[in-house]
Amino acid sequence: MVNSNQNDVLERIINNDHLTISRAISKIESGDDVNDILFSEIYPYTHKTLKIGITGPPGAGKSTLTDQLIRLYLKESKSVGVIAVDPSSPFSGGALLGDRVRMNNYLWNNNVFIRSMGTQGDLGGLNRKAQEAGDILAASGKDVVIYETVGVGQGEHDIAKAADITIVLLVPESGDDVQLMKAGLIEIADIFVVNKADRNGSEKLAQSISSVLHIFKNNENFEPPVFKISADRGDGVESLFQGISNFLNDKVYASYLENKKISRYKNRVLSIIQEFLISDFWTGSNIKKFESMIDKLEISELSPHRTAKKLLKNK
Ligand code: GDP
Repeated sequence: MVNSNQNDVLERIINNDHLTISRAISKIESGDDVNDILFSEIYPYTHKTLKIGITGPPGAGKSTLTDQLIRLYLKESKSVGVIAVDPSSPFSGGALLGDRVRMNNYLWNNNVFIRSMGTQGDLGGLNRKAQEAGDILAASGKDVVIYETVGVGQGEHDIAKAADITIVLLVPESGDDVQLMKAGLIEIADIFVVNKADRNGSEKLAQSISSVLHIFKNNENFEPPVFKISADRGDGVESLFQGISNFLNDKVYASYLENKKISRYKNRVLSIIQEFLISDFWTGSNIKKFESMIDKLEISELSPHRTAKKLLKNK
């Protein structure tokens, strides 16, 4: 049952009350016991929002591009929520200077909500938390939610995959095409963007991405388009903006997008179960038992496998 306090919170989120939204995200982030019921109540309100993931190495221009997209969406009278995820940052809630400056730009604008999230725990948890924060923003009626994630590791990929459409942003200095494949970027990218087109090497990078894509294609056998932009000047940003909308409306990609949605749903269920089982397992008695096994120096006799099995059996 939903109590009146939850009802109140739900009502305020749906009415786009940024203070309530901010508090709800802080709760998610700090791992406070957020009532599952709230998420279930919110869920039906989350479907209309377009979710865009932007990922790429630090300094590639993700936040500059996000700002440009915000500008273009606002021009179309649309509202935007941004979850900027930096797994390498211990800060949260917009403590990063750059993000604070960005947020201040929109402080009094009810159509833009920007929030940064740091690790404060493990990456797997961060993925779930980022998606839940995105759900809150979607429920508040934001037309678009952008997940901005730093890095090129698997965990960051999972966050980028939480979106309807994933944009991989690279810059001339970010490396060659071999790195592209190593980092598994081809599997996650729906659109490639080469930023800093004003710099040497951007044309070469765009060409080499295109030729790699032509050979490898991604899972669904289509070649993601490659855009060249200069985010800080705004060059090429409008055609990228158009490209995003073309991609989403092209019938050719309809089943691809639907499959993505289904696998995203499955992954969310799996990770919730995983987290639940782990936190259920590490109760006081199991922690104590584990520590006493370590104290008794059983580590020289028992293999990690045995120890794990011993603990698991006792559960
Ligand atoms: P992020 O770490 O990926 O979010 O990157 P930022 O958006 O913070 O950008 C990193 C730096 O690159 C900033 O100093 C930007 O002003 C600069 N920058 C962004 N876009 C461009 C561009 O198109 N050309 C050039 N030369 N610099 C850019």
